[in-house]
Amino acid sequence: MQAGEFDLIERIRARAGTRSDVLLGIGDDAALLAPRAGELLVLSCDTLNVDVHFARTARAVDIGHKALAVNLSDLAAMGAEPAWCTLALSLPEAVEAWLDAFLDGFLSLAERHGVALVGGDTTRGPLAVTVTVHGFVPATMVLRRAGARIGDDVWVTGSLGDAAAGLAADASPALRERLARPWPRVAAGLALRGLAHAAIDVSDGLAADLGHILQASGVGARIELERLPTSAELAGLDAAQRWALQTGGGDDYELCFCAAREHRTQILAALAATATTACVIGQIEAEPGLRLLDAQGNPWQPPCNGWQHFPAAQA
Ligand code: ADP
Ligand code: MG
Repeated sequence: MQAGEFDLIERIRARAGTRSDVLLGIGDDAALLAPRAGELLVLSCDTLNVDVHFARTARAVDIGHKALAVNLSDLAAMGAEPAWCTLALSLPEAVEAWLDAFLDGFLSLAERHGVALVGGDTTRGPLAVTVTVHGFVPATMVLRRAGARIGDDVWVTGSLGDAAAGLAADASPALRERLARPWPRVAAGLALRGLAHAAIDVSDGLAADLGHILQASGVGARIELERLPTSAELAGLDAAQRWALQTGGGDDYELCFCAAREHRTQILAALAATATTACVIGQIEAEPGLRLLDAQGNPWQPPCNGWQHFPAAQA
């Protein structure tokens, strides 16, 4: 059955959680929120488009989960604690069952992170989901892309390449799940406050995303490909195939960060307390650029440098 716009909004409002710092949520012309005194408000926005970010056949519950997850991942990479979000939904038709399943995915992740859905917009158009998340971080604790120092360890959480491998037609259910339902590293981002010098979330592929840290920090890095954290699912692939997925494949939503070598033990302990695995994959160096080295220490050229929606024209 087709619902009206206000029926849809009421369906969302009835289920959107709240928090004590939400003075007015869904239902007025705008939300009224009380930012935390003494901390910075951190804000990030990401869109998922049908046929670009997810297949037309994707399940509504997965789209809902991922739309919020990719946004929370950006807050995690800043060391921020999430608080509020808004949801702009463009729907080809008003199908209540679709919306309910979408909200199952979206709101269960929101609840897990104590995030209140405080507003949004509901329009007709090709399926697209735009989420804005807001969070807090003390000014001295922010994890930025700029800040990597020569001699720093380069770290990555979890494992890399699984989401990209999940795109294959014959991918295992575990790999497909990794692509469809990323789990943002929010607790790890908080644990890295005061420890990491720079951080980014791996959404476009390690080479591209670490490249942003290097550019912003005015440094370079050497990465030992043998050290890239690999799931059991990918362990059987030949090295070149695996490294291509792990350096060029996007959508893993792990954190890549840089930190002083003397903090290794402290970092492992802080991350372990959040049940996050992480490992050192290389070092920051003065020489600009990213050097990917194979087991013999020889440079390895990736076949793909990460995803861009609007790649620059080749000269
Ligand atoms: P307006 O026309 O004044 O922008 P809307 O009818 O678009 O008002 O929205 C009414 C209320 O419902 C607002 O509080 C708005 O934030 C909220 N809202 C609309 N769509 C969504 C949505 N998809 N998710 C969450 N809140 C929504
Ligand atoms: Mg509106």
